[in-house]
Amino acid sequence: MTKTISLLGCTGSIGRQTLEVARELGLRVAALAAHSSVDLLEAQAREFHPRLAVLYDDDAADALRRRLCDTDIEVRSGAEGLLAAAQVEEADTVVTAVVGSVGLEPTLAAIRLGRRIALANKETLVCAGELVMAAAKQYGAQIVPVDSEHSAIFQCLQGCRDQREVKRLILTCSGGPFFGMTYAQLERMTPGDALKHPNWTMGAKITIDSATLMNKGLEVIEAMRLYSLPLDRVDTVIHRQSVIHSLVEFRDGAMLAQLGTPDMKLPIRYAMTWPQRAAAPEAPLDLLTCGALTFHAPDTEAFRCLAIARQCAAAGGTACAIMNAANEEAVWAFLRGETGFNGIHRTVESVLDKVAVKYQPSLADILEADRLAREAARAVLRR
Ligand code: NDP
Ligand code: MG
Repeated sequence: MTKTISLLGCTGSIGRQTLEVARELGLRVAALAAHSSVDLLEAQAREFHPRLAVLYDDDAADALRRRLCDTDIEVRSGAEGLLAAAQVEEADTVVTAVVGSVGLEPTLAAIRLGRRIALANKETLVCAGELVMAAAKQYGAQIVPVDSEHSAIFQCLQGCRDQREVKRLILTCSGGPFFGMTYAQLERMTPGDALKHPNWTMGAKITIDSATLMNKGLEVIEAMRLYSLPLDRVDTVIHRQSVIHSLVEFRDGAMLAQLGTPDMKLPIRYAMTWPQRAAAPEAPLDLLTCGALTFHAPDTEAFRCLAIARQCAAAGGTACAIMNAANEEAVWAFLRGETGFNGIHRTVESVLDKVAVKYQPSLADILEADRLAREAARAVLRR
């Protein structure tokens, strides 16, 4: 069980909920890191007394340093600061809750020190899942998923001793705010419309990914890497109620599912306490009032991103890293009003046409693919 954490992305949706769990479980916090949220990081640092506080943005870090000058908390900035937070000596667990592929190198650094990784930052596994999982094996680092679907699968697999007994993983998907819409209707959707998720309150980027279904595509790749299964053994099903968080089908036809209210604190808490469980203050799911559970096939004609992600997963090499970087750029552009909703998948497709895929990539190849894809995406978005 976790005793001391380093929390990367502490001011975000997962980060704030992780600190609620830390408060509840009495965990110590050795390092806190975020991008530029000075006020919130100051408040968190005053409450949790980390040894190290990091803001990626230099000016924000300067401001934080001035604010915390009456404490003995060290303040650092930049990629180097984020790496230091990931490697802080006192932490046995690093919670990776930054958004985007910026999480990759700090995650790898923590893995090389054998830390437990409570992994929320799915972009890391999408870009470099094979390298990350190989490093985890080499350095004996446990990777415990925080993403609710992958936590559900992780929970269903406890006690499964032979991976060959798993026939298929089934990731559930809420369908997002635009479930049932046609491609033509999606064209008109604005950031305001897309930010209204039916069941979860999350950061802006993952909320848009949930509306395009790219999130489910990223999660298919995340599941393939975490559980080393081929693409044809990872399926998705639309389940509007977000009560079943995902399922495992075994070879004898048995299916195990994990159910619960849509509350990220459950998978966060489990990542901290695994292999044990801890009592939770929240009310559990009430089967008598949760209503009927429904299932539908995803519409990959209208929601192109899910189809694109599966194609990239099949292609392998740097295809997923290219797709992920293009998607990050396109999502932020959509949020700034610089492209339409369907412009997101069009940007990703266009970048995939322009940037060549490298096979059996090194970390340097993956970082370069990420850079080239962002450059290509910005050029496409400027047109
Ligand atoms: P948010 O946008 O709410 O938070 C992002 C966090 O990352 C903030 O703390 C932000 O700091 C920080 N950050 C961004 N860029 C950097 C950087 N360059 N260096 C350091 N910190 C940085 O995102 P979420 O919490 O929603 O998501 C975080 C990750 O977890 C994503 O990968 C997402 O896909 C995954 N996830 C989230 C779920 C959810 O329910 N929210 C569910 C499953 C997975 P600042 O505040 O200063 O900008
Ligand atoms: Mg999820």
